[in-house]
Amino acid sequence: MVYLVRIVLVFALIASQGFAALGDAIAGGPERSEPSFKWRTRSIPIAFSASLLRQSPNIKYGSDVIGVVLRSLRTWEAAAGIEFKETYTDKQNVSPQGIAGDGVSLITFAPTAENAILFAKNPEDVAATTRVFFDGRGRITEADIVLNPYQQFSTDGTFGTFDLQSTLTHEIGHLLGLAHSPMRGSSMHESFAKNGVFGLQGFSLRTLAESDRTTIRAKYGPAESDLDCCGSISAKLVRPDGRSASGADVWIEDAETGRIHAQATTNADGSLQVGGLDSGSYTLFSQRKSRARNSIPAQEIGNVTVEAGETAALTKRLISGPDDIDVKYIGFNGQISGSVIPVNAGKTYTIYLGGKNLSAKTSSISFSSPHLTVVPNSLTTHDFGDDFSVISFEMSSDSKTSVGEYSVFVDSPRGGRSVVVGGIAVRTFINPYSNFVLEAN
Ligand SMILES: [Zn+2]
Repeated sequence: MVYLVRIVLVFALIASQGFAALGDAIAGGPERSEPSFKWRTRSIPIAFSASLLRQSPNIKYGSDVIGVVLRSLRTWEAAAGIEFKETYTDKQNVSPQGIAGDGVSLITFAPTAENAILFAKNPEDVAATTRVFFDGRGRITEADIVLNPYQQFSTDGTFGTFDLQSTLTHEIGHLLGLAHSPMRGSSMHESFAKNGVFGLQGFSLRTLAESDRTTIRAKYGPAESDLDCCGSISAKLVRPDGRSASGADVWIEDAETGRIHAQATTNADGSLQVGGLDSGSYTLFSQRKSRARNSIPAQEIGNVTVEAGETAALTKRLISGPDDIDVKYIGFNGQISGSVIPVNAGKTYTIYLGGKNLSAKTSSISFSSPHLTVVPNSLTTHDFGDDFSVISFEMSSDSKTSVGEYSVFVDSPRGGRSVVVGGIAVRTFINPYSNFVLEAN
């Protein structure tokens, strides 16, 4: 009963203010497909608005704002061969929509009317916005980042506020031409938890996911020190009926550790190309994006070895199977959501899963990582009515688990499979909860 009450509370949190979209990247000019968006040079000018130097009413007093902005920029610089050239400006407002902006790529926190109007439609749902301008060839000519003046930000984990660094790290990804990622542990995931959801501080997206690094390297090439990089994978997926498997989510794991290195969605012809990969052995998996008439469970596509400068190719006819299980949410500390659970290596946590036809009696849970294990006999069913089911289990991470993003695999007895791709993020900042704390409750 205690669990039931807790889980109900979580839904209230998600619906009201626990989660918010990190802010859509808005195209300044005509709509275009994103993957081609890219700066022409690897040296990118960025102007800090004088508003970053003033005390803002929506940023916790005493926050080291410039330090946070610089750390967010350095995080991306460390991942790829790019360099930001910072200057200061008196400008306060993002450029209005049009073919081109004013030519100055601005980071501004100024709560001016011109900036606030960007959030007028959804002041409660969006943390920040990036407006990107580009030319006819998809080359970015300007990108402006603005914080939502109706939201509160902090750098010290204050519950109920957004973490400023996680927010900026996401928006700088848009500034560099990245779109949202469906992978939950990605800094480019479309939503993330405010400080306080799961009883945790919202620091996990300060750290780029390995898949974010792969994506940015594919765009701009590796950092000079990154000698191991980069190779590519080219894959083509065919449905069981022989037609192209378009729109399938594919994720690429280190074959040994299960850590996710890349994520992609297949094109209309079932093909996909992933560049920016470190040399190594990878296992590819796919999961359909929306329910197909002929059901295709989540499944392994195959293994490939990637070498720097080479493209490894792979074709796979997907296997049909029952569509009798579906995991939509993952949770922690009595709360479930569409986000990611940040954990530490060498600890044991109680993890929740929510979705369709989940049961401690029939569902089996596993990890592709040898460092993550399900504690035997720890599965528990939580009563949540007929249409929605919730189970929990204890997950142990051994002390050798690398920082990174990992998936939770859930199987039905009939062969159905659903995967929470990147639902577990191993991080170095401390998740202080343990099963001892939960059990003491
Ligand atoms: Zn976004």
